[in-house]
Amino acid sequence: MLDSTSSSQAKESRTRAAGGVKGNGSSSGSSLIEVAGLRKEYGPSVVALDGISLRVEAGEWVAVMGPSGSGKTTLLNILGCLDSPTAGQAVIAGTDVSRLSHSERTRFRAEQVGFVFQQFHLIPYLSALENVLMAQFFHSMTDEGQARQALERVGLGNRLQHLPSELSGGEQQRVAIARALINEPSLLLADEPTGNLDAANEEIVMRLFRELHAEGHTIVMVTHDPVIGRMADRKIVLEHGRIAQTVSFSFEEETAFDEVLEQIWVMEENRTPPTFEQIRFNNGGNGKVLPVMKQIGLLRSDRPALEMTEVGRARAASIIRRHRLAERLFAETFHMTDDEQLESNACTFEHILSPEVTERICAFLDHPATCPHGSPIPPGVCCAARP
Ligand code: ADP
Ligand code: MG
Repeated sequence: MLDSTSSSQAKESRTRAAGGVKGNGSSSGSSLIEVAGLRKEYGPSVVALDGISLRVEAGEWVAVMGPSGSGKTTLLNILGCLDSPTAGQAVIAGTDVSRLSHSERTRFRAEQVGFVFQQFHLIPYLSALENVLMAQFFHSMTDEGQARQALERVGLGNRLQHLPSELSGGEQQRVAIARALINEPSLLLADEPTGNLDAANEEIVMRLFRELHAEGHTIVMVTHDPVIGRMADRKIVLEHGRIAQTVSFSFEEETAFDEVLEQIWVMEENRTPPTFEQIRFNNGGNGKVLPVMKQIGLLRSDRPALEMTEVGRARAASIIRRHRLAERLFAETFHMTDDEQLESNACTFEHILSPEVTERICAFLDHPATCPHGSPIPPGVCCAARP
């Protein structure tokens, strides 16, 4: 790790905070999730999980990424006791869920797991309040006051009696989050929770998950979105039912990679051969990032000449695009004329704009070809019709 001091301190304080969440403080000091050799076959020809081993600590946020069909949902369903493995172990909060009977699994799920799905899965003929009460009922006893509080927590105190069909997608997902939290589970599982949401609702839902993480909840979340992946403490990437890589860089480290890629991009634009000596390391970055960037496949060579891989180049284009679109937005919409102010705002926004918001800005500005200073904006998928 480049400079893991600050991120590991943050993680430590979160893990301490996790003691406050029911069931998270495992007395033996072992991990909250311990998965070993997990295998799931559907018939003789489909191997959905091909020997997964993984530990997740209490208070950790793990993002599960990887192409469609790589086994992400299967893994989450087994962790959430919605499915059982063909072989291997999955120990959650001290219980090997792979050995539970069907009814024991149902009980364990109600007590220990909160699940948030891409499709919300609310009961259509029950109100928001009744949907949350239902989860409480399966757990123990209903407590309307608590259920109301849970809905207030997600900003829906004024929509208690509304049916799912009377709520927007984002609001339905917030009901689902309230339902997932109502029994104070030790583990929060989310399978592409923003997959069906527009950018504004995605932001609201992700803000909730960030708060839950800060409060010490353990979260395992499937996502395709690299910006969401970066919010997690750690990413695991599945391919063909196996863990292809585990990536855990802090936001600061990811930012340092972005800044190096950006500088190489600009040097190439200016026809200056990019070299190690020319890179300026801002915001705590240092020369040690270059070998790491080579190791994780962003750079083909790290000194003396710097060369990006295809993956690195695509990431550079995406950051430059976000940076220049942000500059254009601030210049045109907010009439910001001071170059320094433009630059510093764009530098902040380039790291936090999700793909959806970036496309919206691009469409709002009518797919501009250049930044306010005339440098080209790399086109996105939304720019296909750009003249
Ligand atoms: P992901 O969530 O990463 O897209 P899944 O876990 O849903 O992937 O699926 C992994 C593999 O298992 C895929 O090849 C999928 O077709 C297969 N699969 C998933 N569920 C079933 C099922 N119920 N019956 C047969 N095959 C399944
Ligand atoms: Mg899936």
